[in-house]
Amino acid sequence: MDRQRIRKLLEEYRKSAEIIEDAPMARYTSFRAGGAADLMVIPEDAQTLRQILQLLSEEECPFVLLGNGTNILVRDGGYRGVIVKPGEEFQNIRTEGNELVCGSGALLSVIAKAALHEGLAGFEFASGIPGSVGGAVFMNAGAYGGEIKDVLKEAALVSKDGSKEYTASAEDLDLGYRHSALQESGDVVTEVRIALQPGDPEAIRERMAELTRKRNEKQPVSYPSAGSFFKRPEGYFAGKLIQDAGLKGLTVGGAQVSELHAGFIINTGGATAADILQLMDIVRGVVFEQNGVMLEPEVRIIGEV
Ligand SMILES: Cc1cc2nc3c(=O)[nH]c(=O)nc-3n(C[C@H](O)[C@H](O)[C@H](O)COP(=O)(O)OP(=O)(O)OC[C@H]3O[C@@H](n4cnc5c(N)ncnc54)[C@H](O)[C@@H]3O)c2cc1C
Repeated sequence: MDRQRIRKLLEEYRKSAEIIEDAPMARYTSFRAGGAADLMVIPEDAQTLRQILQLLSEEECPFVLLGNGTNILVRDGGYRGVIVKPGEEFQNIRTEGNELVCGSGALLSVIAKAALHEGLAGFEFASGIPGSVGGAVFMNAGAYGGEIKDVLKEAALVSKDGSKEYTASAEDLDLGYRHSALQESGDVVTEVRIALQPGDPEAIRERMAELTRKRNEKQPVSYPSAGSFFKRPEGYFAGKLIQDAGLKGLTVGGAQVSELHAGFIINTGGATAADILQLMDIVRGVVFEQNGVMLEPEVRIIGEV
């Protein structure tokens, strides 16, 4: 991409979009590792987002959406293109009866609090997942027996090239285990409508507290990571396979297979993306040798070596 040209064209939108050059992705991702993106643009509202997508499409400029950066790793060489991060207006949440209408940048934890405040049950499972709801739709995030698929009524989207806006149901989006059609189409979520049921606020609060306790006990929450690094292979649990292969605690540079939960790769301090990816390769190799199962990363990996 012609970085100077894209930078100049994006300047047109500077009243409604923040533009950051050489955006240090370690700061924007929960792994706290990786290189810089050439450009990051943070459109404040859906109209600006759409115009920027049109511009990037016309210029054939690569781009990647960023939510809260909790399931993404940028290689150390950085990203040659534009990171698009929904800005302030995308954090809004409003209630309509038993439904919550959320901007795609709203955090799941904040939506869970809003649901509790409104006495709406069914979102407790997501309260401890640290992502945005846009990223959660893209990944069909889930935990403790629930997934976004169960609560998503519809999502408002913009096509990848900014040419059209449309709405889609969970079915249209082909939500399945850590999968959505967005992983193939590249279309962008702008708003999400979540359908819940009236519930007892005390019971909702207690369920959330119980899940938080479980998470804090079982997961290395005090270290930077991207959650479970690998997808669950059919018929197995990634963490168990890794643990049984004797890989708990295995370290490459600052990256380590968590002692607490072998499904997590953590940054113990100063890990590079290369450390994390080398450790990922070793884990995949050993597990494959021992069990014939090839683990696939759940974490989205982008950028240059
Ligand atoms: C400590 C920890 C615990 C975790 N626990 C869980 C868990 O229990 N269950 C679980 O499922 N996940 C878990 N995760 C992973 C992660 O939080 C989820 O995958 C979450 O849904 C990612 O959301 P995000 O906003 O951070 O997305 P990002 O990491 O920013 O992006 C993830 C992907 O979504 C795309 N994307 C983001 N926003 C949009 C949008 N608006 N439109 C289109 N595409 C978009 C990105 O391009 C990228 O490919 C955990 C992560 C951590 C660090």
